Amino acid sequence: MDVGVLTVVVAALVALVLRRVVVLRRDWHTARGFATGMLVVCVALLVTAGGFELKHQWVQARATALVVHVSGSREAQADCQRFTPELVDLSVTSGFVFSDSQNVAHLRRTVCNDLYAWLLSSKRAPTDGQVRALHITVHEAMHVRGEFNEARAECFAMQQDADAARFLGASRTQATALAERYYRDVYPRMSAEYVSGDCAADRALDLTPGDGQFP
Ligand SMILES: [Zn+2]
Repeated sequence: MDVGVLTVVVAALVALVLRRVVVLRRDWHTARGFATGMLVVCVALLVTAGGFELKHQWVQARATALVVHVSGSREAQADCQRFTPELVDLSVTSGFVFSDSQNVAHLRRTVCNDLYAWLLSSKRAPTDGQVRALHITVHEAMHVRGEFNEARAECFAMQQDADAARFLGASRTQATALAERYYRDVYPRMSAEYVSGDCAADRALDLTPGDGQFP
C-alpha cells in the first residue's frame, strides 16, 4: 500500500476517535458535553480525510490494473501524485517513467483526478481531460513495456486506447469513440517529438477494441 501524509493523518484520526470513545465510555465524571463534541469533530475529520485517502488508493489501484494489462508486466504499478508533491511540482509533464525503475508509471495528480471522474461517470460524454487521462495512462504503460521512443509509444498507445477503455468498463461504442477523439483532436496538437508521419498516415490504424474478455 502507498503510504502518504494523508494515510498517517487518517491513522491518527482513527486513534483519536477510538480514544474519544474509550474516554466517553470510561470516565463518567468529566464533562460529557466536551468529550462528545470532540468525538463529533474527530469523526467529521476522519470521514473527510478518509474519503480523500480512499479515492487516492482506489484510482491508483485501477490505474495500476490498467498499466499491468497494457504493459503485460505483473510487477507494473501506477503512482498517482499526492496533494503535497503537486504543490511543489512546477513541471508540465502529465506522466513519466524512470528508465532505471521502469515498472512504475508516475501520473500527475490531475490525470488521476480526471481518470477517477471518468471511472465514476456514465462514460457517455467524457471531458477532454478524461480522454487525455486515459490515454496518458496507456502511454506511460508503453514506457513500462520498454518503448521509450515517444513517437512510437504514442502511436502504440493510440491503438490500445479503446482496449484500455473497455478494460475499465466502457462499452465498445464508447471505447471506440474515445480512441477516435484522441486521435482526431489531441494527437495533431502534440509536439513534434510525439508525432510520427508513419503513424498519422497509416489509414489502417485500428482504433477499435479487440475481442478479449474484460472484467
Ligand atoms: Zn512518454
